[in-house]
Amino acid sequence: MSRSVDLFVIGGGSGGVRAGRIAAQHGASVMLAEEYRLGGTCVIRGCVPKKLFVYAGRYAHDLEDMAGFGWTVEGKHFDWSTLIARKDQEIARLEGIYRRNLAAPGVEIVDGRAVVEGPNTIRLAGSGEVIEARHILVATGAHPALGPAIPGADLAITSNEAFHLPALPRRIVIQGGGYIAVEFACLFRSLGSEVSLVLRADKILRGFDEDVRAHVAEEMAHSGIHILTGRTLTAIERTEAGKRVALSDGTALEVDEVMLAIGRLPNTRGLGLEGVGVALDKAGAVIVDADGRTNVPSIYAVGDVTNRINLTPVAIREGHAFADTVFGGKPWRVDHHLVATAVFTEPEVGTVGLSEEAARKAGHAVDIYKAQFRPLRATLSGRQTRMLVKLVVDVATDKVLGCHVVGEAASEIIQMAAVAIGMGATKADFDRTVAVHPTGAEELVTLRTKAS
Ligand code: FAD
Ligand code: NDP
Repeated sequence: MSRSVDLFVIGGGSGGVRAGRIAAQHGASVMLAEEYRLGGTCVIRGCVPKKLFVYAGRYAHDLEDMAGFGWTVEGKHFDWSTLIARKDQEIARLEGIYRRNLAAPGVEIVDGRAVVEGPNTIRLAGSGEVIEARHILVATGAHPALGPAIPGADLAITSNEAFHLPALPRRIVIQGGGYIAVEFACLFRSLGSEVSLVLRADKILRGFDEDVRAHVAEEMAHSGIHILTGRTLTAIERTEAGKRVALSDGTALEVDEVMLAIGRLPNTRGLGLEGVGVALDKAGAVIVDADGRTNVPSIYAVGDVTNRINLTPVAIREGHAFADTVFGGKPWRVDHHLVATAVFTEPEVGTVGLSEEAARKAGHAVDIYKAQFRPLRATLSGRQTRMLVKLVVDVATDKVLGCHVVGEAASEIIQMAAVAIGMGATKADFDRTVAVHPTGAEELVTLRTKAS
């Protein structure tokens, strides 16, 4: 007799853990399989360790900036292995919390791989045991894309390995112009590496507002990052001193480390989904409806494996909505509009709503308000940096369609701006809000002159 459960969750990351825990709290019997480490990409090798690295890099900036405020710091020294060890400790602590949070409401955790064998059947790869499940939730996330095979590709790392490098690379080349590439370029640069960023496009951060893209690129260049556009890596070879990377323009770079950050692919290979008729898109992502349901009614999917908005808070919400809807008698759907996002570059980006270009493309007549200015702190620190704030306003309704910030604390600022914009805030609402002074965010409520 095989065991049976109400819900089998494949994947113990952001989406799967939330879904499993909430379903169990609603009284469902739940099993959850995780083949690597509980917490998934975000906790183990994504958002959390990345942000810890970002903080580490910012201390370098603070130490430089202090002199302008009268401080002298002697004997400063950065130790990569201490950072790695402290980060690993914190990740292990968080992993333990995830395990306890699942166990508390009674979720049975399987430490191993699970695959789908039928619309209601799961096989545990380790033991071979077959489990019957009333519902299956696919929450298997994604993995780094490696792109077209080039000679020496095995010499490159991805973000997975970047969290465990034995030493801080003195010289690194990163391929890609998206979130991961620009974040790692900035954090390695802050920590002292010589960084080259190679991208096939002419600009970083496709899809972001053009002013944001230009502003961040300028800040990165100021910090000493070499941005090489319109190029790709064509070969990597080991040399006595490190690695030599050939580029499509015929030039070469001598580096210690090569990192690929060229997108992520959904984890559906070998999962058994095609065998039971679950529809996948061209990229291998699971196709779901607004409730996260696939074309096989007993099988649902949430998070990165569906390749919609690949962010942790979105995966968590999708998992929660699924559990409430299917097991809690409280149906609701995730609103994928107006999801705020941050890019932890130096300085960081916070953005919510439409870019100027997307707003115009969608047919809106828009007024643009923007300011670029030197933050107060930079006046004494002497750091070459500017902040950007920008509002995209619908002429017909006065509604703020998009808000874009580049500068210190942009990620924190945008979280609150997202509340206002989600409530339908107009430019007049921003205008009648009294400023908090002296801050960078106050510029958002004092923008009076139309830029266009
Ligand atoms: P995951 O968290 O990837 O979890 C899926 C889990 O399923 C994995 O643990 C995997 O091991 C497991 N699994 C896969 N197949 C099987 C199987 N067959 N059996 C058992 N287990 C299986 N998002 C943000 O919002 N903010 C950030 O700052 C941010 N930074 C990021 C930085 C990096 C370097 C990366 C790579 C991602 C970052 N993200 C960030 C994105 C975020 O990590 C993901 O959107 C989020 O983790 C998706 O959650 P998920 O539950 O869909 O998948
Ligand atoms: P992105 O989709 O953000 O960027 C991929 C980049 O790789 C683009 O610059 C793209 O270029 C380039 N690219 C794609 N294919 C190739 C190729 N064959 N050769 C050369 N370049 C190529 O992916 P990431 O890997 O950076 O991150 C994955 C996702 O993880 C993000 O989209 C985001 O959802 C999430 N994430 C979120 C973070 C956050 O919230 N702060 C941080 C990190 C990740 P082009 O522009 O020309 O298409």
